[in-house]
Amino acid sequence: MTTTVDGGAATAWISEFARLVAENKDLLTHLDAAIGDADHGTNMDRGMTAVTAALAENAPASPAEVLKLTGMRLVSTVGGASGPLYGTAFLRMATAAGPGPSLDPGEFAKALRAGLDGIVARGRAEAGDKTMFDALSPAADALDAAVASGASLRDALAQALRAAEAGRDSTIPMLARKGRASYLGERSVGHQDPGATSVTMLVAAAAATLGG
Ligand code: ADP
Ligand code: MG
Repeated sequence: MTTTVDGGAATAWISEFARLVAENKDLLTHLDAAIGDADHGTNMDRGMTAVTAALAENAPASPAEVLKLTGMRLVSTVGGASGPLYGTAFLRMATAAGPGPSLDPGEFAKALRAGLDGIVARGRAEAGDKTMFDALSPAADALDAAVASGASLRDALAQALRAAEAGRDSTIPMLARKGRASYLGERSVGHQDPGATSVTMLVAAAAATLGG
């Protein structure tokens, strides 16, 4: 049982995210077909397949190295909006994680928050724009609050996952104001955002693999 996130745990987290993306590739593409260009599943799966191969080849030792490699591979293999957004998020997480061998719950929450800030710096999304922000932001808030109240990493991530799922579902009635979906105007209403769906898988992967 580990209550910190070391390089092995970070690798397990990213590997589980890759597995979830592969398993749900068709769902993500189907969601993007409704309000975008039907490539979010293939984009993310291409990127995470490359990340998985790079992790196996390099066996990075620290969480920061795992996150940096993930961000760099995503930037180089995923086009569109989501490549630079996810890439920036992981690179910012890597910087926030610092050079140490492991992250305690507070440090992990800080890293996730830095990733969210990177997405905002890159894409300028605000709450209610119908993007990945609408799932990741409430997840980061829930994680911060749970960690501040002394919850274990495991319990804090369970709360973060519930918040991400609620945020993802909240995108359905939203009118898109960022990305391709915004070109649809009112016709974007009534569809779940693909990026909010994939980023919820990132939180689900953390809840499934981190914190013992
Ligand atoms: P593209 O839109 O270029 O085809 P993807 O289909 O891979 O790229 O990703 C679409 C997702 O990217 C959207 O569902 C949304 O969550 C996210 N997205 C798009 N623009 C932004 C933005 N400016 N800020 C945050 N997320 C965004
Ligand atoms: Mg797309």
